[in-house]
Amino acid sequence: MDALNHQSSRDTELLLQGGYAVQTPLQQFLEACHEEFAVNQSGNLADYIPELARVDPSGFGIAIATIDGHVYEVGDSRVPFTIQSVSKAFVFALALELLGEDRVEAAIGVEPSGEAFNSIRLTSDNKPFNPMVNAGAIACSGLIYRVEGKNAFERIRQSLCAFAGRDLDVDESVFESERATGNRNRAIAWLLHNYAVVENHVDDVLDAYFRQCAVLVTARDLAVMAGTLANRGINPITGKQVIKPHVVARVLSVMTSSGMYDYAGEWIYRVGIPAKSGVGGGIVAALPAQIGLGTYSPRLDSHGNSVRGLEVCKAISSRFDLHVLNRNADVRTCVMSDYDISSVSSRRSRQPHEQQILEDRHDDVRVLELVGALNFAAIDYITRRLAGTQSKASLLVLDFRRVPDLTMAGSRLLASTIKTLGGLGITVILSGVEATSNLISTVVSLTGDDRKPRHFLLLDDAIEWAEDQIIYRFGGFSVVKETSHLKEQALLADLTEAEIEAITSLATARHYKPGQQIVKAGEIANSVFFLQSGMVSIKLPSGVRLASLGPGKEFGEMAMIERTRSADVWADTDVQCLELPIDALTGHGALYPAVSLRILKNLSAVIARRLIQANAKIDVLSAY
Ligand code: GLN
Repeated sequence: MDALNHQSSRDTELLLQGGYAVQTPLQQFLEACHEEFAVNQSGNLADYIPELARVDPSGFGIAIATIDGHVYEVGDSRVPFTIQSVSKAFVFALALELLGEDRVEAAIGVEPSGEAFNSIRLTSDNKPFNPMVNAGAIACSGLIYRVEGKNAFERIRQSLCAFAGRDLDVDESVFESERATGNRNRAIAWLLHNYAVVENHVDDVLDAYFRQCAVLVTARDLAVMAGTLANRGINPITGKQVIKPHVVARVLSVMTSSGMYDYAGEWIYRVGIPAKSGVGGGIVAALPAQIGLGTYSPRLDSHGNSVRGLEVCKAISSRFDLHVLNRNADVRTCVMSDYDISSVSSRRSRQPHEQQILEDRHDDVRVLELVGALNFAAIDYITRRLAGTQSKASLLVLDFRRVPDLTMAGSRLLASTIKTLGGLGITVILSGVEATSNLISTVVSLTGDDRKPRHFLLLDDAIEWAEDQIIYRFGGFSVVKETSHLKEQALLADLTEAEIEAITSLATARHYKPGQQIVKAGEIANSVFFLQSGMVSIKLPSGVRLASLGPGKEFGEMAMIERTRSADVWADTDVQCLELPIDALTGHGALYPAVSLRILKNLSAVIARRLIQANAKIDVLSAY
């Protein structure tokens, strides 16, 4: 148990200069809560299951799982206890996944009963009121039994394990104790059998239900389980999708209306976080997109809710203003930057005449970089922003690389905008998305085949494609030049024919095939290349493109200042170039200092131009 009880407080220490360590504010707050509420000894252990009356009444643990995967823990956060009714929320989720909404909803209602958890009353059409009271939970286990038969409990246990992110055991003595004494639940199950809500094998269904209630969890487990609900079904620790997002919404709904039994109305009014409690002393509370909370303290109030757990939830909610209905958001922050290609162009360097077309037509390509989870209101704002501006752009790039999620409503609005813009001759290009992503498939299927938006993984590729369209439209590609003379090289500008000739004689002609690597990051940099025909791409070892170059451009020129190659260079096409060894250039410079000085000045000009462009980019990208 000692190993289990170890605290992860070290992760939450902020290390200050000079070696002082302080706790993050949330850790401090949780510790203060623990101290404050530990003195509260009111409430009683559940004793209608005899074995539950034997637990240590003083146990008290709090844990919070953040959706980025950190777990805060205080007190007995790793002391195991039986999950009891907290399981109901997760088993309901499993029933929805296994049987589908229609079958589950045909058997179990979703109305709050306003009664105690063990109420025997059914609705007027003889269904359990909801899956959060015993009748509904037994019905859920019965539904899972229909699909899984004798394996029902093991299937439930595996699902609880996936939510918790670890293997969970059963407390056999609590299970036996409830099985021996749980006649009220037995009565409920037979009543459900009478109305065909539970089909056959009533005792087996009850066994599965009693076992599911006796699964051992800790406050930490509950926090991770709640964190999974808060994170649209993805366990924030394991990263696994445990249930589908639309099932999450169903589960959180019934937790909101019925999770705390006949205290549900008070709970949503005072705490305002979807939650579920159990007579083992646990409470889970899931605040969508923010945190999962798990508490453990086995003394219960008259509703069967943990007294201290309730105090902790109330304190956290009011201290940090976490009521789900008290939200606000400024949708305008979803557009991180909005620019045309005069400020940020693609990394493909262009021939002078192509460059001229792009400069003349810079406002034909507009880029909106979007950020954050985009819901209905955010996409509506984006569509109004597109409609309201005087942009002349015929190509619109929407970048989604900082968008973790697009809701269905957002997808619908986006798809109809893409269609409308298409009708006006405006092409929408999506970037920052995997071809296989949900976002793409949803938007594409809603848009229809004729106006299917083009999409790219990299924003840079999207901008390059849009630039190509402009160059193509305005006649640029018909005059593409195949080869370049050395006097067009920026590094050799203002040298005489004879001087260029002399330099050329020091160089070696090289030929590369498409896909061949020319320069490797980390190698000794001892030559500079002059590209005469074909295209090369300069990339970081991670694959990020820094530039694509055509005839007339130099590469590897940093060898004149740096002794190690800082990036890879790859041939995109058949490439012809001249490789000039730095040593030869230096030797030449010793004889002809004026030529050497000229080349160095040219190099400075090349670097200065790059710096000016980079500054312009930084400026537009940080202007918002
Ligand atoms: N096993 C318990 C029962 O069915 C669960 C009840 C609860 O936690 N509220 O009575």
